[in-house]
Amino acid sequence: MRFCVRCGREFPREQLIRGYCIDCFKKYIGVFEHKPVLKLTICPRCYSWLFRGDWRVPTSLEDMIKAIGALEISKYIRSELQLIDLEVLDITQKKLDFNTHLKIYLKAETTTFNVIEEVQGSVEYRTCPRCIARSSGTYTHLIQIRFTKKNPPPRFIEGVEKYLQKLISPNDLVNVKYCEGGIDIELDDAAIAKRIVQALSHEFSAKIITSFKAVRFDHRRGAWRGIVTYSLRIPVLERGDLIIYRGSLCIIKDLRGNRLVLLNLSNNVYEEVHMTAYWNGDLKYPSRIEVERYIVKNVEGDKIIIISETSKNELVIKRKHDLLRIKPGNSVLLIKADNIEYIVPGDLELLR
Ligand SMILES: [Zn+2]
Ligand SMILES: [Zn+2]
Repeated sequence: MRFCVRCGREFPREQLIRGYCIDCFKKYIGVFEHKPVLKLTICPRCYSWLFRGDWRVPTSLEDMIKAIGALEISKYIRSELQLIDLEVLDITQKKLDFNTHLKIYLKAETTTFNVIEEVQGSVEYRTCPRCIARSSGTYTHLIQIRFTKKNPPPRFIEGVEKYLQKLISPNDLVNVKYCEGGIDIELDDAAIAKRIVQALSHEFSAKIITSFKAVRFDHRRGAWRGIVTYSLRIPVLERGDLIIYRGSLCIIKDLRGNRLVLLNLSNNVYEEVHMTAYWNGDLKYPSRIEVERYIVKNVEGDKIIIISETSKNELVIKRKHDLLRIKPGNSVLLIKADNIEYIVPGDLELLR
């Protein structure tokens, strides 16, 4: 056992720091070599904050004080002490200055103790590099959203827009531009760009082509800097469209997410097809479609005589399965798509 040099009380040797008991040490020596002053640097636009040279995502004042406090206190406590933990008890703010009471948990050799200290600090507002770049419109990633039809129906663009609103927060964006036949999204974050591209391609079965355009060589990083462009093409398929699937003419009867329900006109059978069929060539738009309406003149056994509404041309056709209930006076449609020809009942719902 030893005696405290100040109060004379008796303690085990390892509970004395520089010969003082903990109470006397706190009171007469103090835990700090110099009292730290906490300086917070916050971006006034996005509220990110500077910590050890990096701009961090926004957080509460308390969390910032805790992190900066731990860093500063470790620097300024007396050499025989070690910082274990820190609690922010309260914060009083006055414009750009603040006062805070910190409960500091310390260790000296084998003894641990805590002390409550009042520490001063100040806030400096400084625009972060990202916000500076944004205000000048600089972006590193470009997502070009286009459609397989040059002028897609407005509801396609609206659908993408609505989806994007749910997907992206305005803080993530540098800019959004509407251009003829699509949308351009400018971003400055690789991870966000990738997330958007993946979500869009999944939701709309878009095809992606990625390219990189170098702008300048960054000697500090030893790499080219430039713009990564993702070109997305979204297939425009609509209910009622005529489409060729694996050589048969079909009508799109329904769209369910990225699946299509097709009615095959050659055999009157419904089929469900994934949108990827569009990108592998199984599903394609005919380059030429003609639809002509005919009126049934007569039905003779398995033959039907029809007459064109416009040209008054007469045709004799075979009575297929889907024409079994056809009667004189009914109408039928003659569909010619590329080199495929079908006659279907006239009440079939076509988009065109
Ligand atoms: Zn003492
Ligand atoms: Zn900022």
